[in-house]
Amino acid sequence: MGRFIPLCVPNFEGNERKYADDAIGQGWVSTGGQYITLLEKKMAEFLGVEEVAACQSGTSALHLSLIEAGVVPGDMVIVPTLTFIAAVNPVKYQFAEPIFMDCDDSLCMDPVKLERFCEEECEFKGGRLIYKQTGKHVKAVVVVHVFGNLADMERIMETAGRFNLKVIEDATEALGSKYTEGRYAGRYAGTVGDFGAYSYNGNKIITTGGGGAVTAADAGTVRHIRYLSTQCKDDPHYYIHNEVGFNYRMTNVQAAIGVAQMEELQEFIARKQKNYELYRELFSGFELGELMGFRPGTSSNKWFYSLKIDRDKVRATMREIITSLEKRGIGTRAVWGLIHEQLPYRDAARYKIEKAPDYSSRILNFPSSTDLKEGDIRHVAEQIKLVLREYADGR
Ligand SMILES: *Cc1c(COP(=O)(O)O)cnc(C)c1O
Repeated sequence: MGRFIPLCVPNFEGNERKYADDAIGQGWVSTGGQYITLLEKKMAEFLGVEEVAACQSGTSALHLSLIEAGVVPGDMVIVPTLTFIAAVNPVKYQFAEPIFMDCDDSLCMDPVKLERFCEEECEFKGGRLIYKQTGKHVKAVVVVHVFGNLADMERIMETAGRFNLKVIEDATEALGSKYTEGRYAGRYAGTVGDFGAYSYNGNKIITTGGGGAVTAADAGTVRHIRYLSTQCKDDPHYYIHNEVGFNYRMTNVQAAIGVAQMEELQEFIARKQKNYELYRELFSGFELGELMGFRPGTSSNKWFYSLKIDRDKVRATMREIITSLEKRGIGTRAVWGLIHEQLPYRDAARYKIEKAPDYSSRILNFPSSTDLKEGDIRHVAEQIKLVLREYADGR
């Protein structure tokens, strides 16, 4: 058997070692240092925004966004159920309550259901959206651009505007995805809503080991987020703190790696897109599954690829499929376990969740690293087809 082809691994072909070594050499290894501000500057330039604050993780970026959105104990926040749990947990950190929303066929939040929920299940009075069942204030919505595929932000922003909801874009999987048509043409994931959160975790399109960043429509808000992330230290020498802060700032060693990764971002996106095209060719006409597309009118970073398995023909469980492929040297995974079914969230509010369970039982993610060779891709597609055909034949 050949080598194991993992799902998604980081790529350090560039100046990562050089810059990290430089940061260590300078002795600036913690939450101060020039690489942090340089990374923020590079991100802001790339995204076309005024300010970006680098922080410790995508999760902390989301937490800081919720704080800045004014989410306080007792509030409610609309969240997707089909996503990684880090998009939802920060709601609980604020002692607020999630309301789980379904996905549409893009795997992102269903904008029609979002609107219906606001219209039918809530009351809008005095500029506040009130969930009728609890009488609580629905203050914000977290929208995830799943696997790099952009959500329908035009419709979502319209609804949010109507009902005075703050919009937090979880762009952790979508750095570099942008709209090419419509009202937001030219705008990147995370720069449309009130807040945009990014992640540099090891499996994301670029990585700093662990890390994240946040931007906001208002530059002053980003500066305040940066202040919150650094223990709200008001002066360099006397330790004056006028608010309760967090230790959420990125470190200079991480940022050094991040600066090198930013130099490669465009190249990584181009490779993800090219690899996707080859997979598309290889899966075209496949009778047991369909390679999912990306939203028209956008250019996606194509971070993750999804095969939608035909459940009338392939009845094996995801676990069986994944195990078989692992034995054949191919790393795959199922889309996430739905969050409203996870133990901490079983009693949480939800609205007409119908599509997410179906997608959750059908979607297989498969290798998408930026260093994949053409031969690897052909091998992966072949093995997936083989395994699914074996199950379809009723093995
Ligand atoms: C990765 C990810 C996060 C969290 O990012 P971390 O940097 O790991 O904290 C949040 N939401 C989604 C959808 C993610 O995929």
